[in-house]
Amino acid sequence: MTHRVTLIPGDGTGPELTEATRRVLEATGVAFEWEVQQAGVDVMEEAGTPLPDETLASIRDTRVALKGPITTPIGTGFRSVNVALRHELGLYACLRPCKSYPGVRSRYEGVDLVVVRENTEDLYAGIEYESGSEDAARVIGMLNGLQPKQIGPTAGISVKPISPEASERIIRFAFDYARAHGRSRVSCITKANIMKFTDGLFLSVFRDVAADYPEIEPWENLVDALCMGLVQRPEEFDVLVLPNLYGDIISDLTAGLVGGLGVAPGANIGPEAAVFEATHGSAPKYKGMNRVNPTAMILSGKLMLEHLGEQDAASRLEAAVAAVIAEGTDVTYDLKPTREDPTAVGTAEYADAIIAKLTAG
Ligand code: NAD
Repeated sequence: MTHRVTLIPGDGTGPELTEATRRVLEATGVAFEWEVQQAGVDVMEEAGTPLPDETLASIRDTRVALKGPITTPIGTGFRSVNVALRHELGLYACLRPCKSYPGVRSRYEGVDLVVVRENTEDLYAGIEYESGSEDAARVIGMLNGLQPKQIGPTAGISVKPISPEASERIIRFAFDYARAHGRSRVSCITKANIMKFTDGLFLSVFRDVAADYPEIEPWENLVDALCMGLVQRPEEFDVLVLPNLYGDIISDLTAGLVGGLGVAPGANIGPEAAVFEATHGSAPKYKGMNRVNPTAMILSGKLMLEHLGEQDAASRLEAAVAAVIAEGTDVTYDLKPTREDPTAVGTAEYADAIIAKLTAG
């Protein structure tokens, strides 16, 4: 079966990373029909927008996209393409597996966990009132009329909406993911002891949903305790499900546990489409230098293979990446013992080494 996939090279180092990933994915033997579409700063002038309609239409049609990183230009009035894509396509779940691969420099070993972050609500919903504004004064006046605790007149306000519907959707996603991938535990991460009507609601939905998955152990952790647990014994954690803000912060922490941005893959998934992309940004200072590490992007491709039902190819791809990293010969500068190591290879040559493993047997 041939899979139709929208391929968005992105900008900065995006095109070289996506090219390496495309070649590696094709070397698994899975057949792809790529629909190459543009987004990012490089098309902004020509198209008048960093996210052309054709690009969105293509993803709606193929339902799967592999995307290179995209720069968010500062001060141009354009909102982030990454945020716009999530919003336009209803990509409510952010999936970020973090796994130790021997050979990647890290303080930890044996980490194998998956962060499932809610993408649409919480303090990231974008409902804010600026300190000193008329709207802030009205909101403060209304809230001060509702309870004895008073908010000072100069406060800025950010609103944290958490609904049972969005909570159930992401929590079911986490349990379904755990079931489909043979994982044994899902931890619900909140501060439910303090924010009873938002985090408390999220936790109460978690308890209800967990009952439908008796084979999976439900854990409940407070986000502060989780931070300590993750740095002391990260190997104990399995799937974590979190509201938006905690998910954003904890997924950077977990990426740090396994060696950082160069090796952290990701996906944003909704009912109509899924977009696979590295956690890192466009690293524009390395643009066109054939230098940066494509592992995060390639492992995002592995997540895409799983999503497409190509389990065997996904496992072979992961084994090939792990073998090249473990050997430590044909790897990019950031995977060498020192960053100045003259034996480091470029993005394309690292991909070649993975392709050689994939096609050897
Ligand atoms: P960045 O992730 O692009 O780079 C930070 C540093 O991390 C780089 O200078 C580099 O040293 C290192 N790094 C990143 N990726 C690497 C790789 N694959 N191999 C080796 N080293 C790597 O973060 P930034 O500089 O904050 O962001 C640059 C641009 O990317 C910004 O405009 C930002 O908004 C955007 N961004 C896009 C996405 C996305 O497309 N999903 C995500 C994050 C940031």
